[in-house]
Amino acid sequence: MSDCRVGVAILGATGSIGKSTIDVISRNSDKYKITAVTANRNVNGILELCRQFKPHVAAMADEFAAKQLQQQINSEGLNCEVVCGVNGQVKAATLPQNDTVVAAIVGGAGLIPAYEAVKVGKKILLANKEALVMTGELFMSEAHRSGAQVLPVDSEHNAVFQSLSSVAKGKNVTEIDDKGVKRIILTASGGPFYNREDADFSKITPEEAVAHPNWSMGSKISVDSATMMNKGLEVIEAGWLFDLPASKIDVVIHPQSIVHSMVEYIDGSVVAQLGNPDMRTPIAHALAWPQRVDAGVESLDFCKMTELQFFEPDNSRFPCLGLAYRAMKNGGSMPTVLNAANEIAVAAFLQRGIRFDQIATVVSGAMNSMEQSHPDSIDDVLRVDSDARSYAKLLVENGC
Ligand code: NAD
Ligand code: MG
Repeated sequence: MSDCRVGVAILGATGSIGKSTIDVISRNSDKYKITAVTANRNVNGILELCRQFKPHVAAMADEFAAKQLQQQINSEGLNCEVVCGVNGQVKAATLPQNDTVVAAIVGGAGLIPAYEAVKVGKKILLANKEALVMTGELFMSEAHRSGAQVLPVDSEHNAVFQSLSSVAKGKNVTEIDDKGVKRIILTASGGPFYNREDADFSKITPEEAVAHPNWSMGSKISVDSATMMNKGLEVIEAGWLFDLPASKIDVVIHPQSIVHSMVEYIDGSVVAQLGNPDMRTPIAHALAWPQRVDAGVESLDFCKMTELQFFEPDNSRFPCLGLAYRAMKNGGSMPTVLNAANEIAVAAFLQRGIRFDQIATVVSGAMNSMEQSHPDSIDDVLRVDSDARSYAKLLVENGC
C-alpha cells in the first residue's frame, strides 16, 4: 500500500520548536511522517530521532558531530544518510520526499537551508524569523516565483494569519490581499523584566534573562524576549509576511500571553486569536492548514482568567524595539546589520562577555557605523551579515 502521509523535514529538530513539532507529528502519525532531521551538533538528540522516525536524511552542521552520528548509524544498522555542513542542511531541506519543511534553526544559520527550500517550492513552516529579517524581500519574492507556501509558526504571525479574512478563503501568506486591514497589533509579553521597574539592567545575569515567564524557548530567543529585540525582529518579519509598512504594525504589551495578536479592519472590527501559550498550536495550525489537527494543547479556561492587560511598550527601558523599527524604516541592508549585531551581542552576553544593557549598545553601534547598502542577492546579504558580525565583535572586544 502506498504511503500518503505528508513528508516533513525538520530543520533544527533538537531545539524547542523542533521538539514541539515532533510532538504534534507524533500525535498525528497517520497524517505526517518525518523525512529529514537536522541539528548543529546534538548527536544523541538526532540519533534518537533516527531510531524513532527513520528519516531518509540526518544533517549535522558540525563535521565532527556528523562523523560520530555516522558511526552510531552504522553500528545500529539504521538506514539513514548522514550529511554535514551547510550543504548537508540544504540537502535535508530540499529532499524530494519533503512536502513540508519546518524552518526552526536559530539565527542566520537557518537562512540558506530555508531559502533553498523556498526556491524548490516546498511548503515552509517558518519559525526562523532571522531569515526573513535578513532577507525578507528576496525570500518572499522567491516564494512568489516558485509557488512555495510560507506559513508563519511564530505565534504572533500565526495569530495574525488566522485573523485575516483571506485565510478563511484558503489563501496562503504569499497571496494575502486583505485590503480592509487598518493595522495589525502584535502582542508582547514584555519578557521577565517588564514589570520589574527596579531591575538594574546592568546586573542582569544570563540565567535571569533566559527565564521567560510564559514561554519555554531556546536561549537566544529568550534573551531577545528579555530585551524586546524579539518583538522588533517580529515587526520586521510581519512587514515581509503580510506586506505592510512599519506604520501599520503596532506592538502592545500583554503580560498574560493569551491574545497572540490581532488585526484591526477599517470598519473598526478587531479580530484576534487566543489560546494558551504553547507553540504546538501555531505549529499544528501551519502544518494542517487549511485543515486542523490535534495539538495536545489545553483548552483555555475563561472563568479562571482573572484579567487580560494591555500596555504601551516602554521604549526608553527597552531600546531594541525602537532600533528594529528604525532598521525597518531605513530598509536595505539595515535589518541585516541589526540582526547580525544582535546575534553577536546576545552570544557575548550569554558567555558573560558583555552586560545585558550593552546588547542594545552593540546593535546601535553597528547600525550607526555600517554604511547603508541595498543587497540584491543572497550573496550580498551574506556579505553584509559577515561585515556586521565582524564589526559587532570588535565592539564587544573593545568593551562596546
Ligand atoms: P533552540 O536553540 O531551542 O534550537 C535551535 C535549533 O537549531 C537546534 O536544533 C540546533 O541544533 C539548531 N542549530 C543551531 N545552530 C545551527 C547551525 N549552525 N546549523 C544547523 N542547525 C543549527 O531555538 P528555538 O527556540 O527552537 O528557536 C528556533 C527558531 O524559532 C528561532 O529563529 C526562534 O526565533 C524561532 N521561534 C522560536 C519560538 C519558541 O518558542 N522557541 C517561538 C517563535 C519563534
Ligand atoms: Mg513570537
